[in-house]
Amino acid sequence: MPKTGVPLGHIRILLVEDSALDAELLIEQLQDAGLDAEFVRVDGADDLRAALAGEPFDLVLSDMDLPGFSGYQALEILRSHDARLPFVFFSGTIGEETAVKALQEGASDYVLKHSPARLPSAVARAIREARTEREREHAERELMRSQRLDCLAMLAAGLSHDLRNILQPLLIVPDLLSTYSDDPKVLRLGAVISESGKRGHEMADSMLSFVRGSRKASETISVAALFSAVQLLLQGSLSRSVRLTVEQPADDLLIEGNYTEFQQCLINLCLNAIQAMAERGGELTLSATPAVADDGAEYVVLRVADEGAGMDDATRQQLFTPFFTTKASGTGLGLMSCKRIVESVKGRIEVHSVQGQGTTFELYLPAPVVDEWAGSEDAAFLDGEGRRVLLVDGDATRLSLLGNALAAQGYDPIMSPDGANALQQIARQGLPALAIIDDDILLLSAADVLAVLQEAGFDGPVIRLREPSRQADAHDYAATVVKPVQVQSLFGAIEHAMGMRA
Ligand code: ADP
Ligand code: MG
Repeated sequence: MPKTGVPLGHIRILLVEDSALDAELLIEQLQDAGLDAEFVRVDGADDLRAALAGEPFDLVLSDMDLPGFSGYQALEILRSHDARLPFVFFSGTIGEETAVKALQEGASDYVLKHSPARLPSAVARAIREARTEREREHAERELMRSQRLDCLAMLAAGLSHDLRNILQPLLIVPDLLSTYSDDPKVLRLGAVISESGKRGHEMADSMLSFVRGSRKASETISVAALFSAVQLLLQGSLSRSVRLTVEQPADDLLIEGNYTEFQQCLINLCLNAIQAMAERGGELTLSATPAVADDGAEYVVLRVADEGAGMDDATRQQLFTPFFTTKASGTGLGLMSCKRIVESVKGRIEVHSVQGQGTTFELYLPAPVVDEWAGSEDAAFLDGEGRRVLLVDGDATRLSLLGNALAAQGYDPIMSPDGANALQQIARQGLPALAIIDDDILLLSAADVLAVLQEAGFDGPVIRLREPSRQADAHDYAATVVKPVQVQSLFGAIEHAMGMRA
């Protein structure tokens, strides 16, 4: 065996050689040198094409002069089939000129029949070089892919941030309408707008949380919200023949875990299902139900059912093995990662599959022990009684809409687009009873504005308008309203902060 480098393992060599005797000698030489190789011999163009179309080879070893066929032709046929498979010439007569030409045409090496000792090492080297090259290309492709994903994540994050700002008015305006009109038709139209505004926000949020990855180790997840997000993310993968039906569970069906991980797990299962239905088409159904085990433990069962090809016993037994795949371009990592995610919350996966009929994956997840689902604030707002409220918001549309809402409710709003302006207005109009400060303001940060306000003698409560992705900071806020701001929750927070309801 050629001694340098990593062992080659078992290899397949395609011999282009018309003489059975010469072929035998070659094979003997290579095997004597310790190569663990199997050989297929061909001696014409058609044979060669047929062999190349079959099981893959590690190397082609070709004689230069064959009756009615030449080594160059063999090389040409090989290159039209595979640009990289190593090709080594051997010949009794190769002259320097011929050798140079062979290498120029894309041969990896050439060996003279009367110095056969070089053959094994030439073969081993050619195979090693080809493998190294393949690995390098693979690594390069992976790097490009991960860089593209990074880019995509950044784009999506920017896009969903902007989208949320654009949609914000749809959440505020419908509530404002009720202060201008009692007409039930107007209010109904307002409700329609508000509903699509909410849906738009949910879409932007699920896109954002998917690309960023949720940082929370464990949270309480509404299965209905999870299903909606998955449905949205799958839109592009469906076709006319593969339909998705989501049987939406009740809003209070909850599971516990990392939101992004469960999103990913369901998407993996759904993509597998879609792939299994690629040829025959069919319906993919997502559903969820509560269940109680024999020992009384409460579960939530998530089901992903397809009408695809199903699988045989051998496949079913290896499903969760890393890198096990039956697909030409599969990774064999999807189910393994689902299993890890489900087991991390002490759940389990069951698989039911009938060949030719379809497959159902069931995730049994322990039901969380939760307090009451947080209810929304009472919608009947108290009167603002002319209280002065400082509103600092970097988003002009939201600033004007919230100012409007505050005025309509009987408050006296001081509206500022940034911290510096806020301080000027306070100097002119006097201190407010309450401050509402957006996270996203320019020039002075929210914390800076607060510090100056307090220096000027302000000791009222502060409400923060927070980006959902941002964590609470050191400052002690009386209340936080997560953006997109809804009028109800803002007034709920104001009343809470001012102790108006006690
Ligand atoms: P990959 O999808 O990359 O092959 P997975 O781990 O997701 O890797 O799946 C492993 C294998 O399990 C698949 O190659 C396929 O053979 C089988 N499989 C998974 N889901 C289904 C399904 N819904 N229907 C039929 N076969 C499936
Ligand atoms: Mg998969």
